[in-house]
Amino acid sequence: QAKKLGRGRYVLFEKEMEDTLQISREIEEDIKRALNANEFQNYYQPIMDQTGTNILAAEALIRWNHPKKGLLPPAAFLPVAEESMLINRIGEWVLENAIKDGATLDEVTMCVNVSPTQLRHPEFPELVSKLLEKYQLEANRLELEVTEDVLINYSETVVEVIERLRNLGVKIALDDFGTGFSSLSYLRRDLFDKIKIDRSFINGAVTDAKAREILASSITLGLRLGMQVCVEGVEEEEQKELLLTMDCPMMQGYLFSRPIPLGKFRLWRDDMDEELEQKPRKIRVGA
Ligand code: C2E
Ligand code: MG
Ligand code: MG
Ligand code: MG
Repeated sequence: QAKKLGRGRYVLFEKEMEDTLQISREIEEDIKRALNANEFQNYYQPIMDQTGTNILAAEALIRWNHPKKGLLPPAAFLPVAEESMLINRIGEWVLENAIKDGATLDEVTMCVNVSPTQLRHPEFPELVSKLLEKYQLEANRLELEVTEDVLINYSETVVEVIERLRNLGVKIALDDFGTGFSSLSYLRRDLFDKIKIDRSFINGAVTDAKAREILASSITLGLRLGMQVCVEGVEEEEQKELLLTMDCPMMQGYLFSRPIPLGKFRLWRDDMDEELEQKPRKIRVGA
């Protein structure tokens, strides 16, 4: 009896595995088609200074304009791409377009997410260098964001690739800080120019004292190690005010803007500039 049930479960499990594999294969084929049909698009989200009034950088976040499924977020297709090595092709597409767009946005640093697979590729620094040259973007206006999982099997290859990128003048940011496997010891190796503190920490920091202490200490930790610090996921005015009291140099979140297409990003930036110019004028008129 038990044996029968066991066998039945096994068959069911096998069936599920096959279905999952089948779905992954379909998405893979669809991604290849989409790359040729140019259905991917970079959206850009601004990264603001301490006061929330100046744009310091833009983060490229990929979207898929799917003809049948609509606008798809990265979570809907990047995991499949990651398993099939298609991530290298998508990653190159994102990087090339972000560098091209970055070269048209003066004074804005362009931030691009890079997957562990890309970073394990020994020729990745050459690709980056070639693209910077092609679009004439200064290396220090490119920042590559990596997550802690690149360090999991943290091979000397990855460390070497990071060091070669930094030698080009490219900046490296540690994304989603505080959510990974996170042994703090890797911070001693001086691999990163910036940490981006995961949005789960600002979430709740206004009301929860412990969350607030973790956030404040993480900001201080980053700064004391000589890195830049950005807090992700700022959605409310109170959160912004709180970060101001913590001397947090950079913020990113829906409070300022969601990720938007390049054209909109430009308009939004121009509006911000205008507002900034008008403020002192208003004061003068009033005085
Ligand atoms: P990430 O790099 O940590 O990017 C931040 C994510 O948080 C983005 O989600 C952004 O839209 C979202 N976000 C920004 N501000 C707020 C906020 O105030 N509240 C909330 N709730 N969310 C906010 P998105 O665009 O869905 O991207 C998710 C993740 O997918 C990214 O996380 C990144 O890890 C990955 N990703 C996106 N584009 C690329 C890419 O081109 N290459 C690679 N390898 N990964 C990418
Ligand atoms: Mg990121
Ligand atoms: Mg993040
Ligand atoms: Mg994330």
